[in-house]
Amino acid sequence: MSLIENRAAIGPLHRHVSLRADSQALPTVAGMVQTLRPSEPLHCIRPDVIAAAAQSFTAAFNGDVLYAVKCNPEPAVLRALWEGGIRHFDCASISEVTLVRRLFPGAQIHFMHPVKSRPAIREAWAVHGVRDFVLDSFGELEKINQEISTDSARPGLFVRIALPETGAVINLSKKFGADFETAVALLRAARPLASRLGVAFHAGSQCLDPLAWRDAIALAGEVIRAAGVRVDVLDVGGGFPVAYPDMDPPPLGAFMAEIDAAYDRLDMPGLKLWAEPGRALVAGGGSVVVQVQLRRGNMLYINDGVYGALADAGALKFCFPTRLLRAGHSAGAPDQAFGFFGPSCDSLDVMNGPFILPEDVAEGDWIEIGQLGAYGTCLRTAFNGFDRAALVEVSDRAMMDTAGYEPEPSSLAA
Ligand SMILES: *Cc1c(COP(=O)(O)O)cnc(C)c1O
Repeated sequence: MSLIENRAAIGPLHRHVSLRADSQALPTVAGMVQTLRPSEPLHCIRPDVIAAAAQSFTAAFNGDVLYAVKCNPEPAVLRALWEGGIRHFDCASISEVTLVRRLFPGAQIHFMHPVKSRPAIREAWAVHGVRDFVLDSFGELEKINQEISTDSARPGLFVRIALPETGAVINLSKKFGADFETAVALLRAARPLASRLGVAFHAGSQCLDPLAWRDAIALAGEVIRAAGVRVDVLDVGGGFPVAYPDMDPPPLGAFMAEIDAAYDRLDMPGLKLWAEPGRALVAGGGSVVVQVQLRRGNMLYINDGVYGALADAGALKFCFPTRLLRAGHSAGAPDQAFGFFGPSCDSLDVMNGPFILPEDVAEGDWIEIGQLGAYGTCLRTAFNGFDRAALVEVSDRAMMDTAGYEPEPSSLAA
């Protein structure tokens, strides 16, 4: 007899503070470090920063804003987004769908992964009330149609189109998206099956160029005209960038201005706009406090790395803002550039940064690494047994300027 168990790959984040009555009651990062003296990574969520970013984005965008759950599915993050006015969620797996439905019975959930398993389609539709599905192939259209065909209601169907190079740090059009001819054919085939029909694209993550949206919206318009069918929604995807120490993207308003102008040029009255931001809503609202375990020259061996919350600091070479948190007072040593080694035995577990810290940083010091609310916590693994971490909600401001929020002074001693 065999027994198949579902088992989580990583230990759950141990929570120190999960709910609060008002933000004043939340501790600060420095205060938590002093109290806990954490020897394992401490994930810090800033609910007020996340809620403010959500408010700014929804105020600036002329349509519905779907949060891309994969970017950070922590319940504390989702609750902060809800508080900031987010009511739509872009999910890509049945686990994400289930999580959002459990937290928010009234949420509108959209299944925006172009390749889904049949059981996931069935369960999303029948159990969780998901009505919108994205696709970029005839195979997927057939799957969706078959798995929900027992029902009299019709799904919303969204055709994802591929884009040429956009100037994004992470391009997604190599993996997903229909080419022009296929998209036209899909729109025509989907129209009679759909309660509402949409065109979707994704400019790529951390896309620094507002003109990418101008060009993508123009392309979507050409596809729609060529198809000659009524399209109800244009989903301009995610990819809206945030600042990192080595990247200074144009303000959100520049992206919105290009989107609005491109939309007007389409001249398709009645076409609704959707967006699916992930990073832009949550990056500034998360950080991780790590501890220095050894210093060797300008390299610091720390207790988190590319198999933990710092995946993007490895192969993708992202820089993140850092500040020293030390028990007692820092003498105000001048800053210098450091690199990090993660805790695993793997030589790929290296992050060259540069990460700017006082030159006297030493074993036992804590370092807060910021702008990690997006694609940080959610990417950690249990590799090599480094699976422990704790989570706390804090009242600190963002470590870099985030939509709707002033940044905090860049260095501080606990
Ligand atoms: C990842 C993803 C997003 C969010 O992208 P960001 O770059 O974090 O804004 C939105 N939509 C889809 C379909 C995605 O896969």
